[in-house]
Amino acid sequence: MDGAVTLGERFLTFANPGRALTAPILRLTGIRDEDLQGAPSSREAVALFVDFAFRDGPPCFVGHNVGFDVSFLERAGMSTGSRTLDTAELASIVLPSASSYALQRLAADAAIVPDAAHRALDDAITSALVLGHLARIARELPPDILGEIAALSELIGPSTAQFFREAAATATREAWSGESEHRGGLPRSAPRGIAMDRLPGAARSEGPHVARRSPLSVDSVFAADGPLARSLAGYEDRQEQRELAVAIERTFADGGALVAEAGTGVGKSMAYAVPALASAQMGERVIISTHTLPLQDQLVRKDLPALQAALGSDVSVAVLKGRSNYLCPRRWQILRGAVTNREEARIVCKTLVWRTTTETGDRAELNLMRGEGELWSRISASDESCDQRRCKRMPGVNCYLQRARDAAADAAIVVVNHALLLQDARMHGALLPQAEHVVIDEAHRLEDVATDAFGLELHEPRLRRDLQRVAHSSAVTSALRDPGRAEPAERLRADVDRALERTSEVFDALGALLVPVTGPAEDRMRITAGLRASDDRWLPVELAGERLADAIVGIGFAAERIRNLGGDEDELAELETATGELAAARAAITRGLHDPRPTDIVWIEREADGALALYVAQTHLGRVIRRALVDAHRAVVFTSATLAVAGSFAFALDRFGIAGLADTLAVGSPFDHQRQALLVLPADIQLPGEDRFVPDAARLIEDLARALGGRTLVLFTSHATLRDAASRLGALESEGLAVLTQGIDGSRRALLERFTQGRAVLLGTQSFWEGVDLPGDILRCVVIARLPFSVPDDPLIQGRAERYDDPFVEFQLPQAALRLRQGFGRLIRTKTDYGAVVLLDRRVVTKDYGEVLLESLPDARTEHLPLDGIASRVAAWCDRG
Ligand code: SF4
Repeated sequence: MDGAVTLGERFLTFANPGRALTAPILRLTGIRDEDLQGAPSSREAVALFVDFAFRDGPPCFVGHNVGFDVSFLERAGMSTGSRTLDTAELASIVLPSASSYALQRLAADAAIVPDAAHRALDDAITSALVLGHLARIARELPPDILGEIAALSELIGPSTAQFFREAAATATREAWSGESEHRGGLPRSAPRGIAMDRLPGAARSEGPHVARRSPLSVDSVFAADGPLARSLAGYEDRQEQRELAVAIERTFADGGALVAEAGTGVGKSMAYAVPALASAQMGERVIISTHTLPLQDQLVRKDLPALQAALGSDVSVAVLKGRSNYLCPRRWQILRGAVTNREEARIVCKTLVWRTTTETGDRAELNLMRGEGELWSRISASDESCDQRRCKRMPGVNCYLQRARDAAADAAIVVVNHALLLQDARMHGALLPQAEHVVIDEAHRLEDVATDAFGLELHEPRLRRDLQRVAHSSAVTSALRDPGRAEPAERLRADVDRALERTSEVFDALGALLVPVTGPAEDRMRITAGLRASDDRWLPVELAGERLADAIVGIGFAAERIRNLGGDEDELAELETATGELAAARAAITRGLHDPRPTDIVWIEREADGALALYVAQTHLGRVIRRALVDAHRAVVFTSATLAVAGSFAFALDRFGIAGLADTLAVGSPFDHQRQALLVLPADIQLPGEDRFVPDAARLIEDLARALGGRTLVLFTSHATLRDAASRLGALESEGLAVLTQGIDGSRRALLERFTQGRAVLLGTQSFWEGVDLPGDILRCVVIARLPFSVPDDPLIQGRAERYDDPFVEFQLPQAALRLRQGFGRLIRTKTDYGAVVLLDRRVVTKDYGEVLLESLPDARTEHLPLDGIASRVAAWCDRG
């Protein structure tokens, strides 16, 4: 297995399917109906191919996702049971951190330039060359790892196993002959991990250990002849950025809270990174929290290193994520020793390869294929099984989570996400080191995350799993075998059986509430004081809840008795962790069913898979956020591109609980929206929900896509409307324009990747309203189908809105304004971008509140146009750019 690929004879034929080609096929392959005239039928073509491929005996078919092609051939008459070697699957093992396993991407990364011949043949040859490339990479792996992968690969397929056996043999031979560049399995390249070096001599519980030096000042760093201007590639002096940095520097110096809105393009991460580095250099730790992982990565991999290099700074920076992001070596070893199927074999193989290079064990470094995310939860650190007391004592357990926590404890700047920041607050500082200052970027998402962090949930399948886990824990199993400890263990098992029965009673009773006397069952329902007082169906819920809570208490007592009788320390620790989960379930029963606080919002919801859950959330988290963040640190900065509504911060200050306590600052975007962006308001479209709205919207989307060659993002607020509109855009496909539909055409990442290839319209809902960054020529038009008001019958929204004298004006409208601005913000990402936003919801001009919404948007040129004139006007606007 030397990776050399010799291209021999080729077989090429069209197959006539006996019907006209569909638009997506035309677009994807470039084959036209006339190309197929005179071609053999599918069956005839397959027979010819079989004669060619099987002439020297049964072949091994190699291809990218080859299972698809082989099953097609089998359906068309080829005998079944052929051996296969899938280059996509091999790539996912030997390149566990590749950003994509698309054939063309792998080929490009390997500098393989396919012949521009016919697509199918071209792909086949590319696959063969990629196979050679993968073989060359595989043989650089340590022989022992390759041997284990070869054994596990028997579950994937004999050809895959043979591939790795040959790679192992080659690697061993080269190791002995000294040919390999890295004998003995040393990494081929520097690990991609995030450096988490501990500073020498730093004490864990003390603040960051840093050398004090003359302080950095924002004025000097951002000066026209300052270090950024001198050494940061592409640096532009932006007044807005300096203004923001100065305000943050002042807040760090004086203490207190700052709520700062910085429009797109300000460069706010640099604006807070400079004062953060300055504080860190003075021995004051700074926590930076983001909502999304991409921003976290950008900070840790790009912005902070670039800034430190420019400033000659060497402040220690660590990133810390929630525990489920880290590979748990203990759980991984358990799966490694008990692999039973192809999927498990594949993830163990790819993590075997990954572990030769990763320093962090961070999932973000792994490209998990479909279905592997589920398996990841079996090998990641988890609340349920993580027991650091035990693992610290186990020799050879190199716990990534613990290393990340140790690194964070010693770092001067710690980058986290909101979920971890708030979980730490809920656990009274148990997860993060003490810090003087906190910067909360993407602060517009803080309340959503706090709702989860400080809420309670009773989820039927999860509760059942937690109960089973306690019953079958090794402490209970061992106790059952010991006559001196068997009695409480039997008692515990009986209580678990009782709790399982009562779980059914509780959820049956809750489920009955979702079935109204007349009409179809609902998916969610708020549990109000009125319902508790007057609905006959409530009493059975309460009674069942009481019985379930009693059973859980019984389990807790029995578990405590087992622990008091002694036994294996590790097993008892695991039992304690498992019963802790049940305590959380009991809290949800108490607050949700029996004793809600006046400020609690309680509701039940049936999920898409049919599972039922009870939720408890707080009406207003301001006090919690203030206490957890503002009162606990010297300075806290809340920042985002969307915090102010029509120039007012009242909404954000109220939701963060810091009205009257915080300074505010709004720095506009450095972009010239009047020149770069056109806001189009159709003058003659019906209102959303009316008969003609979706057909007219779809027609306009088609016109825009034709006029712009795709390059259009359409934002919806409901999946139903999105699907309705998508079903009306079929004509675009036949014109070579891809219609990419969320929920139908792949993951968010896959859709965005395809969109960047051009000639595409992308239709998305919530997750596409923010975090989509498509600068340059890729995106020229954003269509907003409907104003993004929250669904009024959402129990959480209902409960939160009731707190206000005027719920619409004080709560729903500001929320919608901020979301609308997020959607608008997808268009202009750089100073050279230009394009149009078409807002289809006419309520923005017909309703009084429309003014607030429009005032919240960037100052774009606004035009009211008839539907028929919009596409040509947008095209002309874009052409002039
Ligand atoms: S402490 Fe142990 S159980 Fe927890 S993540 Fe680390 S290795 Fe896994």
